[in-house]
Amino acid sequence: MKLQDVFDSYKEYIMPTYTKVPLVFLKGKGSKLWDIHNQVFLDFFPGWGVGNLGHCHPKVMQAVRDQVSKLIFIPNNYYQIPQAKLAKELIYLTYPGKVFFCNSGAEANEGAIKFARKFGKGRYEIITFENSFHGRTLATLAATGQSKYKEGFQPLPEGFVCVKFNDIEKVKEAITDKTIAIMLELIQGEGGINIADKNFVLELKKLCDEKELLLIVDEVQTGIGRTGKLFCHQYYGINPDIMTLAKALGGGLPIAAMVVRKEIADTLGPGMHASTFGGGPVICKASLAVLAAIQKEGLLSNAKKMGEYLFAKLNSLKEKYQIIKEVRGLGLMIGIELSIEGKVIVEKCIQKGLLINCTHDKVLRLMPALNITKKDIDKAIGILDSVFSVTGNP
Ligand SMILES: *Cc1c(COP(=O)(O)O)cnc(C)c1O
Repeated sequence: MKLQDVFDSYKEYIMPTYTKVPLVFLKGKGSKLWDIHNQVFLDFFPGWGVGNLGHCHPKVMQAVRDQVSKLIFIPNNYYQIPQAKLAKELIYLTYPGKVFFCNSGAEANEGAIKFARKFGKGRYEIITFENSFHGRTLATLAATGQSKYKEGFQPLPEGFVCVKFNDIEKVKEAITDKTIAIMLELIQGEGGINIADKNFVLELKKLCDEKELLLIVDEVQTGIGRTGKLFCHQYYGINPDIMTLAKALGGGLPIAAMVVRKEIADTLGPGMHASTFGGGPVICKASLAVLAAIQKEGLLSNAKKMGEYLFAKLNSLKEKYQIIKEVRGLGLMIGIELSIEGKVIVEKCIQKGLLINCTHDKVLRLMPALNITKKDIDKAIGILDSVFSVTGNP
C-alpha cells in the first residue's frame, strides 16, 4: 500500500474515533520507529504507555514465536501452563492474592467494579477522583473524573461519587453506608501527571481498613516498572485490596489483570465473571518475558537513574523557557506543564523526529522505554530545546 492508499482506506473504512498523526509506521526496535519513508523517529511515548520495553523486545519476540508454534489459544475452562506461571509470578512480585486475566485496562477496572459490588452485598458506591481516568466502558467512564469523556453517553451506571484528588476530608465527607470502595490512580496519567500525596494515600488506606472499604488502585499506566518500581504502590508502602494492570504487561500484546488480595479473592466464583480471550497462552508467555526482562536487565534501576537524568535536563529547560511552568513525575513517567496548549509543541517535535504526547491540554507527557539511554535522552532534550527556542518565550 502507498501512503495515500493507507490514509484513504482509514478515511473510508475505519471509524474516526482517534485524533490521528499522519505517519505510517512499518518497523520498530527499542526506542526507534521507522515510517513508510524510512525516516527514523525517537519514541518517547512508546505505545501510549504500552512500550515499557521499547518496540519489539527480542525476549518478547522469542516468547511469542515459541508459543505460537505450540498452542495459540485454549479457553479458560481448561488448564494451561503459561497462565499458571504468569499468575504465580505476578503474585510473587506483588502481594498474596489471586489474579483474573482479561484484555484491556477498562476491562480490568470493570472487573474491579463488579468485584466490589459482589463483595459489598448491597453496598455499591465507589469513590473516585477528579481528573482520574479509568477507561471507556460505561462503568469505567462513570468512574472517570473528567466530564469531557462522558458527553453524549449518559445515562451512565450509578454508584460513583467523584471527589477532589489529594483531599482526605472530601473523601471522608463522601463516605456513606452504601460505600464499598475507593478507586484511584497513584499518578493520574491522562489527567496530567498528578501525583497522589503519600499522606493522602496512607490516610485512604487507614480509612479503608476502618470502614471495611476496598482500596482499588488502577496501575494500568503506572505499573510494570514505569515509575522505577515494578508497581507504583510500592512507593507508598501499602498494598491495595485490588490492583489493575494492563498497558505494558504484555510487551505490546493485549493483556490485563486484576490482582485481588488473597483473603477476599474467592468472592467471584465459577460463572460470575469471564473473558473469552483473557490470559491466552501466547500473551501470558509474552508477559512472562516482560517481567523477566525487567528483572534481568536491571530496568527498574535504569528507569530511576534515567528518570533523574531526564528530570534534571528538563528542569534546566524550565530555567530557560518561561512557558514551562512545572516538571513533575516519578521514574520515567514525566509531565511538563506548560502555560500554553501543548499541541503545537508536540507537532514541532514530531517534525524533528521526536514522538511525545500531550495530555490534559497543557501537559506534555514523556514516558520513554525503561531501557532508554543517556544518549537518546540527550537527543530528545536537544529537540525539545530547539522547539522551545522558537516557541518557548511569549
Ligand atoms: C489507559 C488507561 C486505562 C484504560 O485502558 P484500556 O486498555 O485503554 O482500556 C485505564 N486506566 C488508566 C489509568 C489508564 O491509563
